[in-house]
Amino acid sequence: MKIAPSLILFTAILPLSAQMTTKQKDPLAVHKSAIVIDTHADTTQRMLDDGYDLTEPLKGGYLNFESAREGNLGAEFFSIWVDPPAYVGHEARRTLELIDAVYQQAAKHPQQMRMAFSPEDIVAAHREHKLAALMGIEGGHSIENSLGLLRDYYRLGVRYMTLTWSNSNGWADSSGDIDDPKVAHTKDGLSDFGKDVVYEMNRLGMMVDVSHVSDKTFYRTLIISRAPVIASHSSARALCNSPRNMDDNMLRAIGQYGGVVMVNYYSSFLSEDYRKAAKAQQPAIDQAVAEETAKLKAEGKPIPNELAEQIGKTYMAKIPRPPFSILIDHIDHIAKIAGIDHVGLGSDFDGIPSSPEGMDSAADLPKITQALMARGYSAADMEKILGGNFLRVFAKVQEVSKQLQAENRPRITEKQPFEKK
Ligand SMILES: [Zn+2]
Repeated sequence: MKIAPSLILFTAILPLSAQMTTKQKDPLAVHKSAIVIDTHADTTQRMLDDGYDLTEPLKGGYLNFESAREGNLGAEFFSIWVDPPAYVGHEARRTLELIDAVYQQAAKHPQQMRMAFSPEDIVAAHREHKLAALMGIEGGHSIENSLGLLRDYYRLGVRYMTLTWSNSNGWADSSGDIDDPKVAHTKDGLSDFGKDVVYEMNRLGMMVDVSHVSDKTFYRTLIISRAPVIASHSSARALCNSPRNMDDNMLRAIGQYGGVVMVNYYSSFLSEDYRKAAKAQQPAIDQAVAEETAKLKAEGKPIPNELAEQIGKTYMAKIPRPPFSILIDHIDHIAKIAGIDHVGLGSDFDGIPSSPEGMDSAADLPKITQALMARGYSAADMEKILGGNFLRVFAKVQEVSKQLQAENRPRITEKQPFEKK
């Protein structure tokens, strides 16, 4: 069944200036007047762990206020990602601290950034020339098997949740460990509790994010979700065979169900050559991490959280970056397979050790508009890709939530699977 996109609502919330750009031909002018939305940046960890402030220079990162202004980035979803092995048993605490780090930045810089919780808030921030800050939880392990925590996160402003990160969590399976026989997986992609999580997200108006999930979990979720789903940071498997990417059938299905796929900028998800080279480096990276860990231990020094990431980055830097055009190929492919109404931008800024040539920070976002318009995309197409498609889905999710709250359907599982110790 094809759910008709709520285009009327989408047009109604767009400011007049954005609607008028359809007449424009100059890519930079088109980019400048559009509401540009990015649905995934891991800058939150920098803010919390390194005390990074968005007024500072980039210092090797991808996102700060200056780059956002240069790239006309209107809204960013700050990722709330809890590293599973590092925070076992403290997932909720870490989740809450990451959420707080986003609020702290907004409180410190009210002239440059404001918290946003709805499509209307994004449009209002655009009018005020402020960066709209939104939050998405990356990995269902953050809810610690509690629908109560899920609701609390919604109350705090979290507007999407990626059902899994690279780890399966007992109620939803991940593409990251689906082939690992040591990890327990669900029978059908979602357990009964997992179905309740999806339903509760639909009821709350929290977007269901299928990036990272296994193929089976993807289809199960798509079928049971009452609202269209998003993939907050996923690229095309036909162009780069990462299990994290979406194959053409998945892209078509997301399109048919009215959702949107936001393209990830990581070189390993864009270029098959890069992915293979990175994979070949992995044993050397693992060895270097083990050696450095042993050395620090012997010296009685603490082992930093980001050790593996830092070592990984130095190895990745040795592999040639793919050309900028490869990012455009993925957007183009998804636009052709899923449809022009079902593609957007989900950079994964500050969560990726490599990106294509020329994509060095949010300041480079206008290059995407230039490159796509050079391939024949119109100003109207660009408004959709840059943010319009996502706004439409966000509005639809909120509309469905109002309908479901009127229904008051019972849950599948009576009790939540929480055991007192
Ligand atoms: Zn991710």
